[in-house]
Formats: sequence, structure tokens, C-alpha cells
Amino acid sequence: MSDRELVVLGTASQAPTRSRNHNGYLLRWGGEGLLFDPGEGTQRQMLFAGVTATQITRICITHFHGDHCLGLPGVLQRMSLDRVPHVVDACYPAQNREVFTRLRRAALFHDVVNLREQPIRGGGTVIQASAFHVGAEPLSHGVPAIGYRLAEPDGRRMLPDRLAAFGIAGPDVGRVQRRGSLAVGGQMVSLEQVSEPRRGQRFAFIMDTRLCDAAFALADGADMLVCESTFADADAALAREYGHLTAGQAGRIAAEAGARLLVLTHFSQRYDSGDGRMLAGQAEAAFGGEVTLAHDLDRIPVPPRRPPAA
Ligand SMILES: [Zn+2]
Repeated sequence: MSDRELVVLGTASQAPTRSRNHNGYLLRWGGEGLLFDPGEGTQRQMLFAGVTATQITRICITHFHGDHCLGLPGVLQRMSLDRVPHVVDACYPAQNREVFTRLRRAALFHDVVNLREQPIRGGGTVIQASAFHVGAEPLSHGVPAIGYRLAEPDGRRMLPDRLAAFGIAGPDVGRVQRRGSLAVGGQMVSLEQVSEPRRGQRFAFIMDTRLCDAAFALADGADMLVCESTFADADAALAREYGHLTAGQAGRIAAEAGARLLVLTHFSQRYDSGDGRMLAGQAEAAFGGEVTLAHDLDRIPVPPRRPPAA
């Protein structure tokens, strides 16, 4: 099992279908679990997907249309029931804070969840963790909506042949990493001499929006881009009217942003499972890269790190 993967809990927009639950996603990233947009039924989908409430460390809500948040009451009550011990950040558009409060208080329960609310106004960095930071940008939808981007800091990859050539081994490898240089056999060896730059991995999550600059900025260089594609290209006028993207537009965002893997989701109920190939094809035609059509309960690994530039 990859330790960086997207667990797909649901893929339907607006209304669930027989084969698709309302939206919902858990991004597993090392020891963290970021729950995005828990639609109705998310608690039960977590059971089917083998996800526990304790795995959730952050909750990120793009906006408060029901397909993106109606599962929140059940998830929070389950986290309380299971006595999730850690602090859980909950990010959401600040303009609709009262909706979050209603969802949190939708039913009566003994609330012991250690929730730290992070209402987001505008954009910028919203979570600063040791292993990554999460940024948000306002999108263009009918109600306040934000997209998210998770980025790991850039680092350096140690090169075994260079380390060997300088006679650096064992604990000295850690020393040169921490200190930036090390005296070996009468000469100073710098970290740059025994390593090369390693770009941090990036993940972007773009839900309900029209095409807008923020969508391209969020997707910039993403190793995995999860993007709504509510409509097929033939329904571009509807997509624009309702503040959504077509599959082709999702592909265009991935192409212009230089993303690596495009995960399509949030499908209108007007398309049945037989239309998946058509939607993926439209995104592929615009993107030219790898496209995955999300199905409920899929586990999609974040692609391995980019190989170093030649
Ligand atoms: Zn919406």
C-alpha cells in the first residue's frame, strides 16, 4: 500500500446514483489523512474503503453545496464516538461559517472532537505542517468556493556513488545532510557535492468552478490533480451557467499547469457509467497526459517522484 494515495469515497455531483456516492476523498499522506468534501454517506463509504475516523487529521471543505458537506455531521459524530485523540483542522470558506456551525451541531451528541476551525478568507497558506503546507485560492462558483493545494518542501536526494567516492558512510551521511558540509580525510565535502535537488511532491484539489486563473495556479506542477468534470464538452454552456468545468476544460487545466496525473471526478448524474470512457477521452484529448477516471472506493497512488532532470 502506498503511503501517499487518494482514497475515493464518492464521485457523484449533486445527487448520488446507484454506482456513485456523493463526493468524498481521503488523501493519505504519510501519517496524515486529509478529508476533502465529505458528501452525504461519507461515514459508510469510509467503512467500505477501510478508512477509520482516527485516520482523519484535517478536513478541507471547498464550499457548502450539499454534495460537498452533507456527510460532515456523520463524520464528526463518528470521530467523537471513536474518541479521535488528536487535533483536527477544519478548513472552509469563512463567508459560510454559520453553515459549518449548523452542520457541526446538526444532531445531539456528546462532542469530544478536538476540532480547530480554520475559516478561510481569501487565499494563501492555511495549514503549515512539518512535512507539507496547504494553500487555498478562491474559485469561481455560484457560492463562496475555494480550491486546495498541498506541497511538500523541496529537498535533496543523496547520491550513493558520490557518498562512496568521498568515503562518507553510516552516521556521517546524516551529519552532512544536517550541517550542509563535513570534514572528511582533511577536506570539506559540501552537501551539494553528494546530493542533487529533489522537488517536493504536489497535490491539487479543484472542485466546483468555472475556468479561472486560480484553478491553473492551484494545479501548477501538480503530481496529482483531482479535478471536477461535471459535464461533457457538449454541455459547456451548462457548465458555464452553473459554475462547473467540462472534462475537456479539466484536461486543459492539467495541460497548461504541467500536471502529471489528472483524476477526473464529480460527475453529473446525467451520465451513466458507460459514459466514463467518453469523459476521460475528452480530458485526454486536451491534456495529452495520464487521465484516471475516479470510481467509488478506488485507491489511486500519488505518482512516484519525478525523476531528476537530466
Ligand atoms: Zn457546488
